[in-house]
Amino acid sequence: MLPHSFGLRAFHVDSCVRMLCLASLMMTVAGSACRGETGPTSTATSPPAPVPAGASSGRIESLDVTADLITYNQAANIGFSIPVEGAIERSPGIITRWELPIPVYVDPSIQGNCVQDAMDYWQSVTGVSYVLVAADAEPRITVRAAASDELNVSAGSGLVYRTYPNNRARLGVLKILTGHAMCAAPSALFRHELGHTLGIFGHPPSGLMSSPLVGMSASPREIAMLTQLYRLPHGSRIGSDGSWAVQ
Ligand SMILES: [Zn+2]
Repeated sequence: MLPHSFGLRAFHVDSCVRMLCLASLMMTVAGSACRGETGPTSTATSPPAPVPAGASSGRIESLDVTADLITYNQAANIGFSIPVEGAIERSPGIITRWELPIPVYVDPSIQGNCVQDAMDYWQSVTGVSYVLVAADAEPRITVRAAASDELNVSAGSGLVYRTYPNNRARLGVLKILTGHAMCAAPSALFRHELGHTLGIFGHPPSGLMSSPLVGMSASPREIAMLTQLYRLPHGSRIGSDGSWAVQ
């Protein structure tokens, strides 16, 4: 599992398109023209934030998206427990997502720009927005380094472990193995683990969320799942036919 060893060229193309630095795209060898250009302007081409339309019930058109939301969000992680943070407390049978913008706290144990790159990346493909907050903010996602005794054999971990009564996300954590905590973007590991904290609580195959890691970009399937998730009101229960209603 060497997250820095693949996808570098793919990142350059993706990053360059977002930054409109087209000149470097014409270079026959991937250069360094785009490095370090992960400033606030990288969100300029993001789609609008997906938000609920105000209804308390409705129907998801795609049965594939419906199945993914049930498998990888609504029905996932119930009953699990993790070191330090403890039991994952969520009500079964109801979706979990953050209110936007998602509050993110980056602990000093994480050095480099991989968290911002990961947030910028997900925002650039889904519109899901974020804001950096202090350590004691609530709700929040905390990004921190962790030793191998917390992560077993993994290089990272990401999840939501506390929710409000309607399952709105309250506390999430993104743990990165200490050896990867000093990081220069892009990092498939950071993007992958952040995807877990945003609402993909499992490993749909072939995209950014597949395990083991296979690439630097989210699949259309993952983008469709997250975009639909953030259009549902907190407290929604999804049926297998795509119908949903706030409980
Ligand atoms: Zn994972």
